[in-house]
Amino acid sequence: MVEDADVVVAGAGHNSLITACYLAKAGYRCLVLEANPIPGGGAVTEELLAPGYAIDTCATGHTLLCTNPVLADDELGIVAGDDLAYVDPDPVAHVAFPDGGHFTMTLDREQTVAEFGRFSAADARAYERLLDDYAEVAPIFARAQHTPSGMGPPLDQLLAEHPKGRVWQRRRMLSAWDVIRTEFESKEARSFLMWMAFQTFQALDVPGTGVLASSIVAGRQRRSWSVLRGGTGRLTQALAAYIERHGGEVRCNQPVRRLLVDGGRCTGVETESGEQFRASRAVVSTIHVVHLMDMVPPGTWPEELEYAVRTYDVGIPGFGIYILSDLPPEFATPAGPVTAVSAGTVGWPEDVLKLGFDLRHGRFVDEVPWLLVATPTLADPGRAPQGHHTVKILSPQVYDLPAGPAGWPEAKEAHAKRQLEYLRRFTPGFTDEHFLASLVKAPPDIEATNRHMVHGTFHGGDRGVAQSGPGRPAPGWAGHRMPLEGLYQTGATTNPGGSITGVPGRNAARVILTDFGIDPATVLCAGGGSAGAAGSPQGPAA
Ligand SMILES: Cc1cc2nc3c(=O)[nH]c(=O)nc-3n(C[C@H](O)[C@H](O)[C@H](O)COP(=O)(O)OP(=O)(O)OC[C@H]3O[C@@H](n4cnc5c(N)ncnc54)[C@H](O)[C@@H]3O)c2cc1C
Repeated sequence: MVEDADVVVAGAGHNSLITACYLAKAGYRCLVLEANPIPGGGAVTEELLAPGYAIDTCATGHTLLCTNPVLADDELGIVAGDDLAYVDPDPVAHVAFPDGGHFTMTLDREQTVAEFGRFSAADARAYERLLDDYAEVAPIFARAQHTPSGMGPPLDQLLAEHPKGRVWQRRRMLSAWDVIRTEFESKEARSFLMWMAFQTFQALDVPGTGVLASSIVAGRQRRSWSVLRGGTGRLTQALAAYIERHGGEVRCNQPVRRLLVDGGRCTGVETESGEQFRASRAVVSTIHVVHLMDMVPPGTWPEELEYAVRTYDVGIPGFGIYILSDLPPEFATPAGPVTAVSAGTVGWPEDVLKLGFDLRHGRFVDEVPWLLVATPTLADPGRAPQGHHTVKILSPQVYDLPAGPAGWPEAKEAHAKRQLEYLRRFTPGFTDEHFLASLVKAPPDIEATNRHMVHGTFHGGDRGVAQSGPGRPAPGWAGHRMPLEGLYQTGATTNPGGSITGVPGRNAARVILTDFGIDPATVLCAGGGSAGAAGSPQGPAA
């Protein structure tokens, strides 16, 4: 069967859905084809373990998306229209150290400064300096991120024009560890900041991660780890509904296996069932670039793109434990138990550095140098029956065990048990008797439920210097236009990478609208769009 749409979108992650929404807003009919039974990719909420318990299978924190104009300015009207409400949890984070000490970050800046002061007066001052320094350049980093490559001055130039930009030109080439160790002296402050900076599973001594030491913590200090009331999946539902309200469609169980190429132009896609879907204007892909390579006839891609993808670092995979419990993980402290939506444990700096080193070199890590313990029900109790909680425990890990990925079904339960035993050193009451159900996912399980998460990685690829900005996914092809006319790439393999930011999605829309001859400013804005931009409610002529 031949389907027609103005734009065919392969994959329904939040980024590609955002791209489709803006195109739909401009009057284009979008057909989104998703491999999975439900749309959303990493932005889904499911009753994974029992009815009535809404679990964010992947992402929970949306801090970065909240600053994207798609929500901040409600450019699609979904915040008001679909009642998307965010909770900013306080405390922001609570982290336990190997010696039983801890660090609690709160939304009250002065209180967090005082927390640094418990370990070192110099570190308390350093933290204030870090926030103030970053605040001066944050708009520059935001502007660069929200501008597709090639459509505005590069980040380096913007920094060079700022009075303090040279420090940041250097800092962004340093590693997060370089920045943390030069600014902070106590091992507690360093470890806490490393726990924060490791949230995107970037090894912290890799050049090009320097800004992470400031950007993540500054975002959290401003608005915490923002959690969408009702679960992350509500975002996806709102985006999909927007597309359908604007004449488009989101069709699930449609894995795309190849791109249709006619006369050097991408004209559609073919799914694994052999069905073909043709697009009159463009094809948008959020297929991982590693998979994209095999989806066209040989010789289609330029050699430099093939080289970049052959050398592409897919990043550090993740391991997850999902638990339903009748109490939250309560961290014991001298002042009494502490709970936090975003909590965890962290080793000393050398442990976290070794973790990154081991994982980058493919060594299975059976110790517990870094854990994120997410309990969104603390701030959003409606996700579970009264008094009950959904807990997600995440850590970085390798894809291959010494005997290969096939060993995971057996090894994962033992690894989860080790992690829970370690966690109980700090949360003694969080015991098996309180668990109603649990599920463990090793990296191959994560990959099996989302082919975009190659090897069970969360963020579409490493974000070191080689794969950032104009290098993502490949030098020359970072502007969302692929070297095949009519094909556009978005999602975590494009700049600025993974996480729930919506930035690759909005940037791709800006590029596509420009190529369609529409001023993006008339669509990427509050109100606007539709007939005004595209010329006709059915969409413009091809
Ligand atoms: C356990 C876990 C926890 C996480 N926690 C957070 C968090 O709290 N905060 C945060 O910011 N980030 C978090 N992340 C990362 C975040 O989920 C991802 O970086 C983000 O979802 C990437 O969004 P995306 O739109 O680029 O792609 P994805 O969300 O990966 O979506 C891509 C979609 O494309 C589909 N697809 C791929 N190939 C094809 C094909 N050939 N045919 C059809 N469909 C296809 C996939 O099925 C998928 O639905 C987490 C990830 C995981 C796994």
